[in-house]
Amino acid sequence: MTSNPKYRAEHIASHLRKEFEEQKILSNDTYYIDKNKLEKMILYYGGKLELYQPISEQVNTIENDFPYIEKTGNDTFTICYKDEPDYLSILHELGHAFLDLENMFIGQRLPSKGTQINDVDAWLFARTLAMPREQFEKIAIKNDYNIQSIADTYKIGVYPVMLRGKDLHIWE
Ligand SMILES: [Zn+2]
Repeated sequence: MTSNPKYRAEHIASHLRKEFEEQKILSNDTYYIDKNKLEKMILYYGGKLELYQPISEQVNTIENDFPYIEKTGNDTFTICYKDEPDYLSILHELGHAFLDLENMFIGQRLPSKGTQINDVDAWLFARTLAMPREQFEKIAIKNDYNIQSIADTYKIGVYPVMLRGKDLHIWE
């Protein structure tokens, strides 16, 4: 075993993908993860997915990064989103639930400016969960390693697909 944080993020995310498939929340041919699936995934681990509801005009003017995760109890959290974010950024917040929640205080939100939290690992977590190794390798071959076609399969941007190929040493 290694304590390399990157290894940890990948390890947890690939384990979770299998767990979600065993629980029939995802299947091994799930590519695009819709909101209904995201809700089930988050609920399964004690979280809630909520659409941001401004309480007043004043609150609405406060600058906030969306989506964010808020620790709501010892083992509970809410992922709050606005304006239909892509599913990868929701999975990124779920990554924070697994990587950082134990070090957060109740009421704390991520992302927030000036935190010690490593976002890079949360993105690696999100890519690993959304594009598991074996599935991604098959899709890459099927699409002749065309990044745009792979991105279309996952209904995701080309940038995370490019990074995923690098994670897996499929391309440089
Ligand atoms: Zn983050």
